[in-house]
Amino acid sequence: MTERRPIGLLGGTFDPIHNGHLRLAEEAAEGLGLAGVRLIPAGQPPHRDAPATSPHHRLAMAVLAAAANPLLDVDPAEVASPRPSYTIDTLERLRRELGAEQPLVLILGADAFAGLTSWHRWRELFAFAHVAIANRPGHAPHERRWPAALDPALDEACTPRLTRDAAALAAAPAGCVMPFEMTPLAISATRIRALLAGAHSARYLLPDEVLDYIGKHSLYR
Ligand code: ATP
Repeated sequence: MTERRPIGLLGGTFDPIHNGHLRLAEEAAEGLGLAGVRLIPAGQPPHRDAPATSPHHRLAMAVLAAAANPLLDVDPAEVASPRPSYTIDTLERLRRELGAEQPLVLILGADAFAGLTSWHRWRELFAFAHVAIANRPGHAPHERRWPAALDPALDEACTPRLTRDAAALAAAPAGCVMPFEMTPLAISATRIRALLAGAHSARYLLPDEVLDYIGKHSLYR
């Protein structure tokens, strides 16, 4: 049994990072008792079209967004890698870095969780991390999007597998699935890109520092 505060991992394209991501990290940290949250911008995401913006800019915006919050740090490894970003590779690396006992919590919005079974080696994710799933406006709640294929993939690493008790996340290094509620924020990077492309204001949807960076580098025009 481990009793360490879990470390949260929030991967994303972050194209750009916005207040939905930041509030997700903040509420996960507080609600799940995490030591902190690592933001992990994807380099080349394998699941979607190429991001509108280069990895370098997306990383720089994540660093700006995280700077003011001691709970957040940014992991540049996926951006630095020339290979496609697979979550399982990142989890294997973090396991080596942080040791077998450290609880890790992969934080996902309900939309990301709904697509989990298309991820590379997705069944193995649960051997490396817990998975925490937040509600997201416009996406069916996690309970109704539970992938049928998930059940047989659940083994005994965390018992019971589906938990609503944050203490379970500190008691094992990996293997639990924990839905949690966050303040619903209907913010998406897609919407922000559309606003900026139309020369509309995106203020208050993302940090001012990130918006200033976007303006300075003429991104999303
Ligand atoms: P896009 O609109 O370009 O698809 P996005 O806003 O969904 O981007 P991503 O970088 O793809 O942002 O998301 C990273 C992670 O953050 C995913 O797990 C996603 O579900 C979650 N997430 C993003 N925005 C929110 C939000 N407003 N509420 C809850 N979760 C969110």
